[in-house]
Amino acid sequence: MPHAYDDQNIFAKILRGEIPNDTVIETEHTLAFRDIGPQAPVHVLVIPKGPYVSYDHFAAEASEAEIVDFARVSARVIAEAGIGLGEGGQGYRVISNAGSHGTQEVPHYHLHVVGGRALGRMLAAPQ
Ligand code: 5GP
Repeated sequence: MPHAYDDQNIFAKILRGEIPNDTVIETEHTLAFRDIGPQAPVHVLVIPKGPYVSYDHFAAEASEAEIVDFARVSARVIAEAGIGLGEGGQGYRVISNAGSHGTQEVPHYHLHVVGGRALGRMLAAPQ
């Protein structure tokens, strides 16, 4: 089944300039901005400007230029936040939720870059 992109999602509105955001980095293909409800001292969302729903959609269908730009911007976010291991930082976590099992709230592909404190184990134990 093809990926159906809903252009009324909140990140599409941010990309169209209809809703403000706290931009960290913007390039031709990628926008990085602070999460409105940060879960840690560093919590930045990295999104492609193209209409991709999820990690698998982006990785399968985006152009090489989009994918490289996304990866480089993510690395710059980590470096500039001082959490990257190459900067002597103490590390971070990148997360991308997809669909109902992934509890994805906004159906536009995004990478959460989270750090600035010890983050605990990756997944909670099943209830
Ligand atoms: P998801 O659950 O889809 O992986 O995460 C969506 C994230 O988007 C959440 O962490 C939430 O706080 C963030 N978010 C939702 N609406 C807005 C918004 O209008 N602006 C910003 N900057 N972040 C938002």
